[in-house]
Amino acid sequence: MSPAAPTRVDVAIVGGGMVGATVALALAGTQLRVALVEAVRFDAAEQSSFDDRTTALGNGSRRILETLGAWPLMAAHASRVSEIQVSEAGRYGGARLRAAEQGLEALGYLVSNRHIGAALWQRLSQQPGLQLRVPARVHEAQFEADCVRLQLASAAQECVEARVVIAADGAQSLLARTAGIANAVEDYQQVAVVVQVSTDRAANGVAHERFTPSGPLAVLPLRDGRHTIVWTLTPERARAVLALEDAAFISELQQCFGWRIGRILAANARASYPLRLSRAGSMRGPRLALVGNAAQALHPVAGQGFNLGLRDAALLAEILAAAADPGDPAVLEDYERRRATDRRGMIGFTDGLVQMFGSDRAAVVAVRSLGLQLFDLMPAAKRALSALSWGFGGDTPRLMRGLRLNPRQGNGERP
Ligand SMILES: Cc1cc2nc3c(=O)[nH]c(=O)nc-3n(C[C@H](O)[C@H](O)[C@H](O)COP(=O)(O)OP(=O)(O)OC[C@H]3O[C@@H](n4cnc5c(N)ncnc54)[C@H](O)[C@@H]3O)c2cc1C
Repeated sequence: MSPAAPTRVDVAIVGGGMVGATVALALAGTQLRVALVEAVRFDAAEQSSFDDRTTALGNGSRRILETLGAWPLMAAHASRVSEIQVSEAGRYGGARLRAAEQGLEALGYLVSNRHIGAALWQRLSQQPGLQLRVPARVHEAQFEADCVRLQLASAAQECVEARVVIAADGAQSLLARTAGIANAVEDYQQVAVVVQVSTDRAANGVAHERFTPSGPLAVLPLRDGRHTIVWTLTPERARAVLALEDAAFISELQQCFGWRIGRILAANARASYPLRLSRAGSMRGPRLALVGNAAQALHPVAGQGFNLGLRDAALLAEILAAAADPGDPAVLEDYERRRATDRRGMIGFTDGLVQMFGSDRAAVVAVRSLGLQLFDLMPAAKRALSALSWGFGGDTPRLMRGLRLNPRQGNGERP
């Protein structure tokens, strides 16, 4: 029996996690024929992109999600960050950044990954032209001169032929590996322990970033009054902390963080994430573009990984929607060039924070302590930090300016 004819599309997106789902939504409704292939349903327990973590979304990300119609579906679950307090264990003082001082409604928003997934996939299911393949895993890719051929390990054993493929398949990207794109990985030798806690004082919009000798500890306010904790530890200490009974765990956490959020009363199940910086040598290959973690996976210290990936997704969709041949090398080169400033800046900023606050050399300790005090006194530095919510520079994608890509609605109209 001869094999079934391949499904032909303009763009195939591999991976429908946080970033892949967004790029699919951005391209749906444009003139391009689009297929999204995702191995795991968004609401399945084993879907690691939409797990129990909480993501800090900057104002630019909120705008992108708003333009795509996904924000209203998650807004009821979002908590506003009105203030960020930065401090260092064992040192007096610290720095505060307040939304009101910056003339902002919020410095950012916290939404659980589960709610982000539910909102994005609800919007995806409303796009009539979009071809969704889920659950379906791409197990092989062949790069040809005029297309990329993807073999799907689904019940139908389908083959998808695309003029361009978007790799949104995470830090272990099969697509990037198959295309021969090198990936530089730096293991931070740190593990993030993530847990939600309730305290005797309800969360009030204040987020805390506390730098401790074992690594940064972020305490983020949730809408329901609880806090989510991202506790960075050495692998040995993380193993020990994960093995503790609840009462002993709470006591360790309280001792490490102090009493700024009151007494910790209860903690839910803990999850852990080994932390690495992984960076693809290029954001493009033959008829291939990389977005999100497939292009770069960052330390969560500044909460920037998804925000950066969203801007990859927004600009790539805009460039592909305007191209005669979306897989043309010149088109993909344009994408890489226009993302370079933001990408380089955000990777450098995040990695710099990890290195600076991870060092116990006396000179570095003195400089960062002084740096925190100075930062607190410098309105310009605060303005610059809150502006990171819109990226590190370079092109501002149309979606982040509130402009849809759908030519049928007139390019450039507000939604
Ligand atoms: C502890 C922690 C806290 C974080 N907090 C923040 C934060 O506050 N703010 C922020 O901006 N970022 C944060 N991040 C970063 C953020 O989680 C990532 O940037 C984001 O998840 C990247 O999404 P992605 O879609 O690129 O990749 P992934 O989440 O890895 O998704 C990849 C998807 O591809 C699918 N897939 C893989 N291979 C295949 C295949 N062969 N075929 C089909 N499908 C496939 C997978 O099933 C998955 O759905 C945090 C990260 C960690 C670890």
